[in-house]
Amino acid sequence: MSGRILGTTKILGVMGFPVSHSLSPVMHNAAIASMGVDYVYVPFPIPVEQLPAAIAGLKAVQSVQGFNLTIPHKVEVMPLLDEVLPIAKAVGAVNTVKRVGERWVGTNTDVAGFLEPLKKLSCDWANTPAVILGSGGAAKAVVAACLELGCSVIHVVGRDPKKMKKFHGAMTSQLHDYNLRIHPWVSIPHLLEVAGIVINATPIGMASDPNTPISEAEMNLLPDHAIAYDLIYTPRPTKFLQIAAARGLKAIDGLEMLINQGAIGLEFWLDQTVPIEIMRQALLQHLATK
Ligand code: NAP
Repeated sequence: MSGRILGTTKILGVMGFPVSHSLSPVMHNAAIASMGVDYVYVPFPIPVEQLPAAIAGLKAVQSVQGFNLTIPHKVEVMPLLDEVLPIAKAVGAVNTVKRVGERWVGTNTDVAGFLEPLKKLSCDWANTPAVILGSGGAAKAVVAACLELGCSVIHVVGRDPKKMKKFHGAMTSQLHDYNLRIHPWVSIPHLLEVAGIVINATPIGMASDPNTPISEAEMNLLPDHAIAYDLIYTPRPTKFLQIAAARGLKAIDGLEMLINQGAIGLEFWLDQTVPIEIMRQALLQHLATK
């Protein structure tokens, strides 16, 4: 919030259910205040069955300029929009929507957000096999990101064969991909022996969960140059990243993905450069008090 809500104030927000855990209001309102723009960013708790009414209803509210989508709305929102940009079509999920006149235009900033910390590394991606643990919504964005990096092969590991088959079908029909392989959980040790990057896209290890998706012994199977990337950002670090760091691997947590997907979204709404360092500091400060 820029300090005052006026008759002219424009509204941004995040639709989810529940949405009270979302950190997006913290980072977006910090950026809005620092930029001095006449906006406010608010949570929109919207049950699944109310999503169509909310999308249509908010179009009538001219001050609503855009919104993010989080669980469980990222896929279901797609047919309710007037336009879905190619990156969101490729992923099969929308996390950011912008008002363009009387039209809702959806995109996906998770892919670019995920890539941002990897861009800083010098890595021969064409010779880097990726192993993705989990096959939910975030894993789809990670697959699209690994394709953009040019990873030699992308292995996705999941526990439910039916869901894995569906995931493979959905991703390959959208991305026309030839190097995406799906595997059962038991294949992990074999895959890790050759992995260049392993990504945890499951909630294992989140908040008070002391577990890790792969054990210390399995972490030891990874080559010395491998990268361990956990999409989780609370706790920091997760057990997965603790054992990766102890093993001497490059360890990346999900906070930069969160910050960068948010900053890219805010730029999309406001059409101007946004203060990403302010967003980062607001989140770090907020997390330190929890
Ligand atoms: P999701 O759609 O619910 O998918 C979760 C995936 O994890 C599913 O494939 C699920 O398998 C699997 N899974 C859950 N528990 C498991 C277990 N005990 N063993 C094996 N597999 C398990 O969730 P999502 O949206 O993809 O999010 C995944 C994680 O990424 C969450 O921790 C989320 O907070 C994080 N995330 C971070 C960011 C960021 O900006 N940093 C962005 C998005 C998501 P089944 O299908 O078999 O249940």
